[in-house]
Amino acid sequence: MSSILQSSMTECHPASVPDFTPVQQLRDLQLRRLRSVVARTWQHVELFRSRMDELGITPDDIRSLEDIAKLPFTKKTDLRDTYPFGLFASPMKDIVRLHASSGTTGKPIVVSYTQEDLNVWTSVLVRALAGCGLHRGDIIQVAYGYGLFTGGLGAHYGAEALGATVVPSSGGHADRQIMLMRDFGVTAMCCTPTYFLHLIDRAAELGIDMKKLPLRAGVFGAEPWTESIRQHIESGSNIEAFDIYGLSEIIGPGVGCECQRHTGLHIFEDHFYPEIIDPDTGAPLPDGCEGELVLTTLSKQAMPMIRYRTRDITTILPGQCECGRTLRRIGRIGRRSDDMLIIRGVNVFPSQIETALLQTEGTLPHYQILLTRVQGLDQLEVQVEVTPEMFNDKIGALQELHQKLQGSLDRVLGIRVRVSLVEANSIERSEGKAKRVIDRRTS
Ligand SMILES: [Zn+2]
Repeated sequence: MSSILQSSMTECHPASVPDFTPVQQLRDLQLRRLRSVVARTWQHVELFRSRMDELGITPDDIRSLEDIAKLPFTKKTDLRDTYPFGLFASPMKDIVRLHASSGTTGKPIVVSYTQEDLNVWTSVLVRALAGCGLHRGDIIQVAYGYGLFTGGLGAHYGAEALGATVVPSSGGHADRQIMLMRDFGVTAMCCTPTYFLHLIDRAAELGIDMKKLPLRAGVFGAEPWTESIRQHIESGSNIEAFDIYGLSEIIGPGVGCECQRHTGLHIFEDHFYPEIIDPDTGAPLPDGCEGELVLTTLSKQAMPMIRYRTRDITTILPGQCECGRTLRRIGRIGRRSDDMLIIRGVNVFPSQIETALLQTEGTLPHYQILLTRVQGLDQLEVQVEVTPEMFNDKIGALQELHQKLQGSLDRVLGIRVRVSLVEANSIERSEGKAKRVIDRRTS
């Protein structure tokens, strides 16, 4: 990277410097931290120690980064099984924050932070937002939910530490969100991509042209989204849309983020070590191969995660980004292995449906997948909103669109699905993560 860029990054955002650490130096740091976190977890977390014992290994067996493959995986069920505090490696007196998943089924999962963990979390968010070109002087509205969910508070402290002005609007109340955006001159939004699409629509209904607002960037995460959604967002609002990645089990938002090149998401790998594995065998795969993302927290104190299986399917992209960051990148996450629907024996991912729908002119980025079972046979119906112009047009145009969508879905999925075109605004909007799949199959 050029020294000019480095010096300007240093001036603006001192915390951005680790992004440009020479590769060997970064690997050395990762190994030091890996050895230390493994030793610490082995010492304090019963479940991890017993799994190491079963494998006949001790922390001393970790002598290189490749040795990480010897370590046991951690799964989401481990967090549930040890609810609430079974995986903590710090005593409660050192823990300053707890977060938890919403827990729609059964017990939630609980995650914890020491003050040092919160500092790391804030620092990676600063680096993420700086990588999106945001800085002091920006007015950042955080419309992720505040509370037990990590999205709101994570983005909040990052944006504040960046030196930006934070508008902590939290989720919901679309009209108020839009009023704040306009009246406060908000320059960047943090929320889920589907919620932002909803705000674009609602602003139009209120007669507010989002393209005329000072808003110039959106940092969107907490759900997988496709390039088609990015195009809808950018054309509907004239902003630059960035993909940010994270999960509470690892730290919350800020595990990785796109830079202004938009060629994958840089993982802040001085804190989170990424691997790609074959989801069926658990074998490590080389960079460039698609598989399940596994993350190890290298510096986390309160609740270290060793080889956590994220269920997110992606690739570690080979080569270095043109921005000069030495941090490796992952491809955008289009699907999670547990999102997979099995319809009449065929594997179907909602992201395949989304891409097929939104690449067709005349559709809106609002759709829903309905699963039912009729006489023992799975039925898949895709409902998608179409533009008002389409509905006002002659019936022929609708029929043509219907055929086009039917054809492309049949081709992509390899099974027959039912396509229903519905009017704009007829699918329920979400204030957070979109509910795309409604499964009414009963066994
Ligand atoms: Zn980059």
